[in-house]
Amino acid sequence: MRLIFLGAPGTGKGTQAALISEKLGIPQISTGDILRRAVKDGSELGKKAKAIMESGALVPDDIIIALIKERLSQRDCDRGYILDGFPRTIPQAKSLDQLLKNNGQIDAVIYFDVDEDVLVERITSRRVCVQCGQTYNLQTDPPPANNICRICGGEIIHRDDDKEDTVRTRLQVYKKSTAPLYDYYKTKNKLHIVNAAQAVGIVTAEIDRVFETSAK
Ligand code: AMP
Repeated sequence: MRLIFLGAPGTGKGTQAALISEKLGIPQISTGDILRRAVKDGSELGKKAKAIMESGALVPDDIIIALIKERLSQRDCDRGYILDGFPRTIPQAKSLDQLLKNNGQIDAVIYFDVDEDVLVERITSRRVCVQCGQTYNLQTDPPPANNICRICGGEIIHRDDDKEDTVRTRLQVYKKSTAPLYDYYKTKNKLHIVNAAQAVGIVTAEIDRVFETSAK
């Protein structure tokens, strides 16, 4: 199963990717997580990406494409993967097509549909574990009072790019650069729309139904 989870920031792609990854036994590949790790480690990639990410803009396509190429060549991707936050531009999607040309194809693109006004509130309420990436939400799933992750014991933080000004920029960037991917995959008959404004368990069930229908 090669899957793409597509949607604006805050639609719950990461949460669902983690759950489905566990269920299907295939890795969740989040370009955002890879970049955040690089920033934390102070690597060359991290140095290039840091200021761009803090501003809410997109990291250049050539950097992202090289990163994904390397990641998809690793053994754990042999049985499939979930792409979470990639592709985010038409050139990235075309490079992925090119990469998969002689090597299978994408099975399904799950589009996470949520109204924009709900998103700003969702993202600004989001908190995340710096160590394992587990997300919390001040309204629906608050972190423990000591801000220590209940999964791994890591520190829970409010990401700089989850603060309101940057969130608005990220949503603008999404509309301009990433939203065109909806039509790109629709034309290829890969797109499945999920109502992601619902509770986590209901969204997971909708995604499961997509897999069942497409397996028939
Ligand atoms: P995310 O956690 O997926 O929201 O990503 C956080 C930030 O990382 C984004 O706002 C971008 O600056 C950068 N980023 C992640 N994935 C990509 C991508 N596929 N293309 C360009 N920039 C990306």
